[in-house]
Amino acid sequence: MKFQYGQFGGQFVPPVVVDALNELNEAFLEAKEDPKFIEEYRYYLKNYVGRPSPLYFARNLTEKYGGAKIYLKREDLNHMGAHKINNTIGQILLAKRMGKTKIIAETGAGQHGVATATAAAMFGMECEVFQGRVDMERQELNVFRMEMLGAKVTGVDQGTATLADAVDFAIGKWVERIEDTFYLLGSAVGPHPYPTMVKFFQKIIGEEAKKQILEVEGKLPDYLVACVGGGSNAIGLFTDFLPNEEVKMIGVEAAGEGLETNKHAATMAKGKEGVIHGMNTKCVFDEEGKISPVYSISAGLDYPGVGPEHAYLESIKRVNYESATDQEAIDGFLELSKLEGIIPAIESSHALANGVKLAKTLSKDKVIIINLSGRGDKDVNMIRSFI
Ligand SMILES: *Cc1c(COP(=O)(O)O)cnc(C)c1O
Repeated sequence: MKFQYGQFGGQFVPPVVVDALNELNEAFLEAKEDPKFIEEYRYYLKNYVGRPSPLYFARNLTEKYGGAKIYLKREDLNHMGAHKINNTIGQILLAKRMGKTKIIAETGAGQHGVATATAAAMFGMECEVFQGRVDMERQELNVFRMEMLGAKVTGVDQGTATLADAVDFAIGKWVERIEDTFYLLGSAVGPHPYPTMVKFFQKIIGEEAKKQILEVEGKLPDYLVACVGGGSNAIGLFTDFLPNEEVKMIGVEAAGEGLETNKHAATMAKGKEGVIHGMNTKCVFDEEGKISPVYSISAGLDYPGVGPEHAYLESIKRVNYESATDQEAIDGFLELSKLEGIIPAIESSHALANGVKLAKTLSKDKVIIINLSGRGDKDVNMIRSFI
């Protein structure tokens, strides 16, 4: 088997799925070299998503910590409030190009489901989203949102009836309907080419940020900080800076109630190499070697695996992976709201929590970019029950 990222990646799926993945990979490789395809993708990013997203100098936050300058990449200002739409637009355009008429997707909390239903509505594609039954009950409002956008939401009862099961189920359904159906995966995870393809559609974040920081600071940043669930917003910010060795990078996972408890989603810190969802990567396993249920206050970081490129970037020590607890994320959430008038997603608040701690230890001439992957309107009710 070929691996894309050191020993990580691959296609650990049945042969019929490999065929479908190869068809997808060929279409992707062709599309990304086609200027017309790229032009169309850029058109929708500009006119529908609202890109480029600003790079905002957080003056108040910077002054409070008294160290490095803190900039926020404002993915929260995208249409539908997060970075996910960059990827769904890209993949739907690819689906159209391949002549597919139906979109299927998995979702955990519903954010990727909503982003997929949004793009499917705009492009007039039929859309079915698979969601664990437990998640459907926990995230009723997102189920309604997806339905309002014209998608069909199908409950998945197998296993723990949460995200990991929804992914397995969606891959199974894809195989049954491969001729007319496109499987739109929500993060930089899964069998090849998904991690590479999702990165391609998210790397716009770092490309813009690089231009923007050079314009205002006249130099590259010293640090990039992003939260890591599956790892798509992080790889989106990091990719364009990877050749610049002087730029240090930090991925922040969810430590939940603490790394010493079993209620966390810290795949890098507590996981081992193994196979999940068709890829060889790092993953949290229980004592019996089964994929372990994970926990975070943040639904978007609540994933037992991680994108294979992150496992690779950790192994070559290019990116440092840290974690933030629920409480640290809540503190970050409230602080940014009060100090800057920006209500961040609870996912992004994990990156904020570690970003400001880092800023404090650095001198004033240093520069940090924190990826504000989404806005926090969706989290306000939950935060209310914690304070
Ligand atoms: C889904 C989501 C994440 C986590 O997904 P990644 O693929 O790790 O980026 C982070 N932030 C927000 C706002 C999200 O919606």
